[in-house]
Amino acid sequence: MEQPKQEEDYGYDLFPERNSAKYKAKSIKESLFTFNHKCQVMLQFAMETSPYAKLLLSAMKTSGCQVFKDRHFSCEDCDGTVSGGFDAVSSQIVLCQNNIRKQSHMTRVVTHELIHAFDHCRANVDWFNELRHVACSEIRAANLSGDCSFWNEFDRSNFGWKQHHQECVRGRALRSILAVRKVSREKAEKIVDEVFVSCFNDHAPFGRIPHGKKDAGFAYRDYNNRDRYYANL
Ligand SMILES: [Zn+2]
Repeated sequence: MEQPKQEEDYGYDLFPERNSAKYKAKSIKESLFTFNHKCQVMLQFAMETSPYAKLLLSAMKTSGCQVFKDRHFSCEDCDGTVSGGFDAVSSQIVLCQNNIRKQSHMTRVVTHELIHAFDHCRANVDWFNELRHVACSEIRAANLSGDCSFWNEFDRSNFGWKQHHQECVRGRALRSILAVRKVSREKAEKIVDEVFVSCFNDHAPFGRIPHGKKDAGFAYRDYNNRDRYYANL
């Protein structure tokens, strides 16, 4: 007899509010002065001021996937220490309001998840069957979101800097995959290695690895000037 196909783990157990499948509207009174309200305020600030977020939002709009704050973001309580996630089914970015307390953290999470949303928009990403697609997007998110710009604290002319950055990206991508997919560490490592070079070198829509906020600002300026240069040709 055929065995029923085992339900796969897509990490939704980390987002308990996802399971209720209803997006209940909270009253203003309920949401004011709560984690939810603070989450909304920090999200708005990130969208308006972060060059990373602004560039990604522009690029998505250009690609025909305009992002709306109320439709595409959801501040929720999450389990464990998870900070956020991208729900490909509803095209929503989940922000873990109980785990994001600082603006800098919020900005990084918003950027990271927007890179997944950008990949979802531009490419035919098969999040559920193709682990290589997931791995590629996690590598890009770790590489481009500033998740690994911790190394910028050190002298970047340092010979080992480039390798530190790559190791950080690889390690973060691996951890992200293991957090949301039931897969062995060996298999995850193999897949990350297979796609690493091409995905690490894919810097869209930044055109470069933005090493820090200032660099992301330059990338944003270049992105906005892009069409002007083409128009002058
Ligand atoms: Zn991710």
